Amino acid sequence: MPRIYIAGHRGMVGSAIARALRQRGETDIVTATHAELDLRRQTDVEHWLDQNRPNTVILAAAKVGGIHANSTYPAEFIYDNLIMAANVIHAAYNSGVKRLLFLGSSCIYPRLAPQPMPEDCLLTGPLECTNEAYALAKIAGLKLCQHYRQQYGVTFHSAMPTNLYGPGDNYHPENSHVIPGLIRRFHQAKVDQVPSVTVWGTGKPLREFLNVEDLAAACLHLLDLENPPDWVNVGSGQECSIGELAETVKRVVGYEGELCFDSTKPDGTPRKLLDSHLIQSLGWLPQVSLEEGLRAAYADFVAGSV
Ligand code: GDP
Repeated sequence: MPRIYIAGHRGMVGSAIARALRQRGETDIVTATHAELDLRRQTDVEHWLDQNRPNTVILAAAKVGGIHANSTYPAEFIYDNLIMAANVIHAAYNSGVKRLLFLGSSCIYPRLAPQPMPEDCLLTGPLECTNEAYALAKIAGLKLCQHYRQQYGVTFHSAMPTNLYGPGDNYHPENSHVIPGLIRRFHQAKVDQVPSVTVWGTGKPLREFLNVEDLAAACLHLLDLENPPDWVNVGSGQECSIGELAETVKRVVGYEGELCFDSTKPDGTPRKLLDSHLIQSLGWLPQVSLEEGLRAAYADFVAGSV
């Protein structure tokens, strides 16, 4: 059995992949906390990989956040993500790793890409400005993998998931993504019996949501392929407007007050739906419906907040 290093094992994605690997019987998984290893420090990363000698690396570590965090801290989003990708990919290659899976995001595609967005619309137009910094770092990570694979013959490849949610999400009131942000706000409003809840933006943007357990299954599926695509979209096909999402979260949380929209807050890109035909043709399909996934996410939030 291979020794697998999961970078970012405490995050929502890394922890879901670790659970899925353990369920499948993989026991030789190595990890390091942020305090033990700062992935922004190249010599530390090189030293750690030389000491721990994984055969496979899953790069799920990232600085992530929602529309507010991405627009407020663009310098951190570009620097941290760029340097982590460069350090881990380069050090993995130098230490003899032959297989590496890099996790990206659907925001790598142009703001006005054709919908659903196929893999080959990458770099065909300008990016959405609210997350350009993060997107550029993720494009660089994907391209590092592609070029190391092309030049050195290592199987370094990438998965580009759509908007994710699930257990272990970040529920920060301002910096989170929309689902954990709304879960927190509706829950708090229910507990405090507040008459209305504000949803950012117009409610009109369309987003596709994927449960992180489905993403974890997709990652394992890709790692089992002998010749995976350089990068592949991982979407659920479950698309809804932010207004519809807010109604669903409201129902799941059991909040009975009103919804209002704050159109002074940014909407971000108007639509972000991935074309996931490629990964489906390779044998992966999503399993978790949005409502079912939201119920599990809310249970996770309640368990963590008490
Ligand atoms: P995006 O897909 O990169 O835009 O990331 P987000 O998950 O942060 O935002 C998705 C959409 O939800 C945007 O149109 C936001 O304006 C909207 N939205 C509504 N309420 C919230 C909220 O409480 N938090 C966040 N992050 N977004 C919200």
